[in-house]
Amino acid sequence: MEHSHAAPRAAADVDTDKLAHEMTERFRQVLSTRRMNELTSRSLSRPSSPAPRDFGTPQPPPMHNAPPSYSSLRNIPLVPQAPQDARSLRFKNMLHSLSNMPLRWENPGLLDEALRVVPLEQIYNEAEEESQILQAEAESLGEGKKAAWGYQDCVVRALLRWFKRSFFSWVNNPACSRCYSPTIGVGMAAPLPDEQARGANQVELYKCSVEQCGAYERYPRYNDAFVLLQTRRGRVGEWANCFSMLCRAVGSRVRWVWNSEDHVWTEIYSLHRKRWVHVDVCEEAWDKPRLYTDGWGKKLSYCIAFSADGAMDVTRRYVRNSNHSLERNRAPEAVLLHIMDEIRALRRNNMSKQDKFRLEGEDMRENRELRSYVISSIAHEVSRMSVDDIINGRSRHPRPDPDAQKAAEGRTGGASEWIRTRGEGGRGTPNQQNPRDQHPR
Ligand SMILES: [Zn+2]
Repeated sequence: MEHSHAAPRAAADVDTDKLAHEMTERFRQVLSTRRMNELTSRSLSRPSSPAPRDFGTPQPPPMHNAPPSYSSLRNIPLVPQAPQDARSLRFKNMLHSLSNMPLRWENPGLLDEALRVVPLEQIYNEAEEESQILQAEAESLGEGKKAAWGYQDCVVRALLRWFKRSFFSWVNNPACSRCYSPTIGVGMAAPLPDEQARGANQVELYKCSVEQCGAYERYPRYNDAFVLLQTRRGRVGEWANCFSMLCRAVGSRVRWVWNSEDHVWTEIYSLHRKRWVHVDVCEEAWDKPRLYTDGWGKKLSYCIAFSADGAMDVTRRYVRNSNHSLERNRAPEAVLLHIMDEIRALRRNNMSKQDKFRLEGEDMRENRELRSYVISSIAHEVSRMSVDDIINGRSRHPRPDPDAQKAAEGRTGGASEWIRTRGEGGRGTPNQQNPRDQHPR
């Protein structure tokens, strides 16, 4: 973490600095226009009277009227603090328990075994072809241009397509296995010994909708990625779990990202781009971190990434502005920092000094990346203010955001399916949780 180490400046800093500089310039222009307008309105009113907004009348909202949640993201504290109240302790225990998920995939024997279900030749051929195309594209753009993605990234992209299109299926209610009719949920059942042995702690029970049949159907929610290779079905928890494990099996570094509004997804580390990349297998989405907010109109509070060698609060990658942030009230920000440090330390306990140093460097680079999203979001807000808003000193009516529209158009059937399953009405509606589906895993 940056707060505990004085780091040498790296090249990535320069971009952030440039952004910060541009932002400062833009701010300066807006503020200067505003000052000019104030001066003008003052000179137009009676010379002796102050401008009306100086007192009495209601104040316009401040330029960046962000709720506490996003401003807390903007001002992440520098000094971590141990949890001191029951609520923070509960959050800590929960995060520690969630952080174990990626450790379950670290089993070389099982990972080798897992590759038997993957059509490796097809995947490597597709990856080879795609990476050659990307390389050719880069070369056509001029000397020294870098391909958009590296070979290993293309391997994961091919794996993603295969997993979504040919391997795993999405199941809300399992069909009746006696007459193939739809079923109706009737609650939870205790897991049978063999279900429990295969890692299902929860079993949903369904009843056939055909009166004369009336058969019951069990839907064990398996937690074990290796068992899921056999069952090949589930909702978002099963999808993310099994797919992330397979990314590990093909040799990528992988993260399991937990979101407090009941979603999970994957991040893989791109050696080519030297950064973590968002991957949502249910949506076949690659590097679309704004999918949930700009795309689906969801509001998020926490997105925490766990890997076998670390943990990181990556919310700023997924929540780029205050419209999409929910209040972060599970623990003070300084406590969350402390918990992240603690999990990282645990995971790196037995590592060599060099490995720890390398990972710390990576964390610092990522922190800079996450900070740059905040900076560019502020710059973006400023650039979207219309002349009227500037004159009136408000930012209430931003022009439509073309990026958001693009992201919204990119919505897939899977996305709406996901929203429907969760009983969410789609864009702009508050998050609701389906009580049966509180645990996405
Ligand atoms: Zn039936």
